[in-house]
Amino acid sequence: MTKRGKTPSLIGGGAGTCKMATAARQRKCKRCGGAIPMGSGCFEVAIPGTMGHKCYCVDCFKDVLAQTQQDLNKLVEQSSVI
Ligand SMILES: [Zn+2]
Repeated sequence: MTKRGKTPSLIGGGAGTCKMATAARQRKCKRCGGAIPMGSGCFEVAIPGTMGHKCYCVDCFKDVLAQTQQDLNKLVEQSSVI
């Protein structure tokens, strides 16, 4: 069986796409509620099924990343057992 197209990524495809962004105006972190000043870096995580996204400050995004890493590790573990 040939693999079709580009290899999909769990965080790069339709669901939960996230990217670093520069706040075009002052924003609020979705998690800690802290202000993200205009022009500073933040991370946008798409909300699946909507056009919207959540915005996280760098500190909170590190937590999100760490959790994602744990979830990924679990999946990697499970996929290597089968
Ligand atoms: Zn935050």
